[in-house]
Amino acid sequence: MPTWKSWIIKPHKFNIYTQKKTLINNSNFIIVGHGIAGALLGYCLEQAGQSCRYFDAPDQVAATSVAAGIINPITGRRFVKSWRIEALLPAAQQIYRQLEVELGIHFYHERPLLRTLFNRGEENDWQARSLDMDYASYFHAPPDLGSIPLITAPAFSYLEVAQAAQVHIGQLVAALRLRREQAGLYHAETFDFAALETRADGIGYRQFTADQIVFCEGWHSRANPYFNYLPFGGNKGEVLLIRLPEAKLEQILKHRLFLVPYTEDLYWVGSTSENQFTTAEPTTAGGEYLRGRLAELLTTPYEIIDHRAAIRPTVRDRRPFLGTHPTHSRVHIFNGLGTKGASLAPYWATHLADHLIAGTPLDPEVDIKRFGH
Ligand SMILES: Cc1cc2nc3c(=O)[nH]c(=O)nc-3n(C[C@H](O)[C@H](O)[C@H](O)COP(=O)(O)OP(=O)(O)OC[C@H]3O[C@@H](n4cnc5c(N)ncnc54)[C@H](O)[C@@H]3O)c2cc1C
Repeated sequence: MPTWKSWIIKPHKFNIYTQKKTLINNSNFIIVGHGIAGALLGYCLEQAGQSCRYFDAPDQVAATSVAAGIINPITGRRFVKSWRIEALLPAAQQIYRQLEVELGIHFYHERPLLRTLFNRGEENDWQARSLDMDYASYFHAPPDLGSIPLITAPAFSYLEVAQAAQVHIGQLVAALRLRREQAGLYHAETFDFAALETRADGIGYRQFTADQIVFCEGWHSRANPYFNYLPFGGNKGEVLLIRLPEAKLEQILKHRLFLVPYTEDLYWVGSTSENQFTTAEPTTAGGEYLRGRLAELLTTPYEIIDHRAAIRPTVRDRRPFLGTHPTHSRVHIFNGLGTKGASLAPYWATHLADHLIAGTPLDPEVDIKRFGH
């Protein structure tokens, strides 16, 4: 690491709870990456009176900007609850609703999720699960199909998952970015690791100083020299945005792929899932796969408006990465939100912010100490 340059404004040494900014370039936190992880962590820190400065690479496609933002409490062939869903749902509801009011935009849509059942075996499995009292609040019967039969081929049957939602996380992050840009706290630039200086009493980055730095770079963190020892995965997803003028769909439909109301008459269709890929761009094969699935599903014409791709920040043990660098006590990470950033980010951003500000212990299941450094 380069050494601290003497011409950089001296780092401040005051209590992080009572700090008043005395130098324009000082902040409590530098946050690198402004996807849903960085944007919400910054929000939680700001809510607690901390000042944050953001650096976000303009030339990379954030997973957040491509995601549908589905929150699905019941997943998989065995219809099991998503990990920690009882804690995640109230946190998501609270933060997203609060931000809707503050930002004056409607991005948090509580919607039923209709899932196609393809045969008797699936229906039996679901019925067995739905008898479990712990699951009662997550199923709604009989399912309300709305306009689904008008636009899709007949299916064996459906189940309706309650407490699902679609969070337009791309729209949320864009609104937070605008607010931070206007405050002069957002820098659309790739973070230069060579310019980072870490000392016992502060962080230096070019003309900026901070008490601490948190890296939230999604999949790109695997190239971060401080955290590249962590077992990052990376899963590519391609999606289509289509126009379905007659659909008037209110629900999220899962029929091998997801069909999700997006904006006005646009619908999000996705997605592919690849652990091995050679390009982060949309591909012909990905587009063909999605069009093939749509051909099986829709009985009404549609128009393709866009074809997008991004990389999900997946992790081998499917648990987020929260915590502090083993030797640099002011350098932290918030990552590994995988396929579930919309539901995971509010709860774990709050958890990490509490830890960074008040020293509350990190949950060992998400603490990067689990990798033994
Ligand atoms: C096709 C697809 C569909 C998905 N659907 C859903 C869904 O329905 N529901 C759900 O919950 N999740 C979904 N996800 C997953 C979700 O998108 C992720 O969990 C979440 O967006 C990850 O957020 P993040 O902030 O960690 O990463 P990102 O959103 O990737 O953001 C990382 C940011 O860091 C910036 N950055 C990286 N390196 C640097 C650097 N050196 N300097 C400065 N900035 C840097 C990038 O530019 C980017 O803005 C989907 C993902 C994909 C790809």
